[in-house]
Order: sequence, then structure tokens, then C-alpha cells
Amino acid sequence: MTDSSYLVHGVFWDGAPARTRGHDGGSPVLRLQPPSGALRDISLGPGSSLGFRLAAGGRFCLGHHKVFSASKREHVLCPARAQATRGKQCERCLVLDDSRLIHDFHRGGRVPDGLRTYLMQEHWLYVATFASGASKVGTASNLRKWNRLAEQGAVVARYVARAEDGRVVRILEDMVSRETGLAQRVRSAAKAQALTEPRPGPELDAINGGLAAKVRASLGQAGVGGFDVIEEEWVRPAQAAALCAPAARHAYPHDLDAGQHGFRVAALCGPNALAALPGTDAQFVVNLGRLAARPIVLGDFASEVPAVQESLF
Ligand SMILES: [Zn+2]
Repeated sequence: MTDSSYLVHGVFWDGAPARTRGHDGGSPVLRLQPPSGALRDISLGPGSSLGFRLAAGGRFCLGHHKVFSASKREHVLCPARAQATRGKQCERCLVLDDSRLIHDFHRGGRVPDGLRTYLMQEHWLYVATFASGASKVGTASNLRKWNRLAEQGAVVARYVARAEDGRVVRILEDMVSRETGLAQRVRSAAKAQALTEPRPGPELDAINGGLAAKVRASLGQAGVGGFDVIEEEWVRPAQAAALCAPAARHAYPHDLDAGQHGFRVAALCGPNALAALPGTDAQFVVNLGRLAARPIVLGDFASEVPAVQESLF
């Protein structure tokens, strides 16, 4: 990694939720770690420009999280800026990371006090549907109730239960998966691919509404307490609308592990940008999540327009 490079942490939607349809929300950013000092955010709001080149091959460690309470956590950067050995972390940071313990908590796993406080807050169970109609059941803490779905790149979503804590909500999640066959995960590559040819909004809404009803019925049979079945729609941020609307688009033609790239962000859904390249009206879907843990140098770079574009019309 060179000295002037930034390590990409990923796309984050930490801002205030979209309250009503037609409103932007989440203030999405690309989060970068400079050679020294605090993390820096670059806005990915509608119309923003992004130019960069990859500074080195491979992935580097993004550090680990310590959880102190429902709302307080610390992101400890990797002191060694080590190569990532597993996913986006080095061996040392992986072992120190509190968040890896979350998924075993409801099966009786032991957790530190701070993480326990975080997990004991109110949680939400949701059903999310992506652009192809692929859907999942998932959980969000009360603090991240809206933001979690924005970050996932949901096209339509409904909350189906409010649980008194993170233990109950994960028990419900496992139960719903078992009873209805709903997945707990949709691959990020599949979400990005689906946005090149999204299904019409009313179809996706019908799929999501049907699955949410099925899940609510299944929750009525649950053998645990500590939750309420609810009906509440998630409000999709307006800056995702242009990417979720049916249109002929193309997967971004370049790999994000090398080379130089530059485009205007016309819309954003989760980590996926609708990229406008200079010199063409064609629309491209870029999965910016693929930049996570990679070092980049910012600058006035432009993506090469693919020679095959004529055949795309
Ligand atoms: Zn590390």
C-alpha cells in the first residue's frame, strides 16, 4: 500500500432515515481510512462524482469493533494495516471483534457486558425483497431499524415483528426460515446483477407483501414470547428510485480490483451505484461493496467506456 492511498471501508447509510416516500435518507457515503488520522467520508448522494485508481492488489484489514452499549461502539483500526487473511480482517482483529459473537448469542453463547447491553435493546424482524424478487428474513437493532435495510439494498421491505431483545428476534428469524423456507441471506453479487434488469415495482411489492403475510401467520404459531407481530412498511430512500425502476442497464464492465475508474453516481441502492460514464448514455450498475478492504488513490480518473456498447442498444 502506498502512503497516499486510502483504505476503503465500504458504503454506509448512517444518516437520518427517509421518513416519507420521495425523501432521500441515510446520507450514503464511501468511508475511507487515510494513512493516518480519523476515517473520512465521501458523499455518494445523487449527482456526486467518484474517481479513483487501485493502489495495490489484495485486501487489507479493516480492524475490529468493540461494543459498549446499545448506542456506543468503537471501531478500532488495525494497528498493523495488515493484509486481510479472512474476508476483510487479519487474524488478530477477527479474534478481537465483538460482532462475531452476535450470531451465537441466542444459542446460549457468552458475550461481553457491552455487547449484551446492545443485544438487549428492542429489535425488528423484517422481510426484504431485492430487484429479482429474491427475498430474505432479517433482523435490525432498534437503532439501525431503517438504516440496516438501506445498507442491504432492499427494493421493498416490511417489518413483521418487534422483539424485546436481540435474542428473541434471532430465535424468530431461525424459526421463520425453518417454517417458510425464507433465506437469511441473499448474495451481494446477486443483488447487483438483479439491478441490471429489475422486475416492476408492483410485482416486487406483491412478492414482499405475500411473504410478509406468510411470516406473520407463522409467527402466530411461535412457541416463544417477548414479541409483537406488526405491519409496517419500510420507506425506501428516494435516491434508490432510479436504480430500482425497470430499465435496460449493464453490469459495470471492469473489475474493481485493479485499474482506474471514474463516474457520476446517478442513484444508489445499498452499495450499488447507477454509474453514468462520460461519453455514453448507457447505464451501468457498479457494486461499490467490492471495493471494501482495497486501497485506492482518489483523483480525476474516468472509466473506460466499453467498446461493446453499441451492441447493448
Ligand atoms: Zn487487523
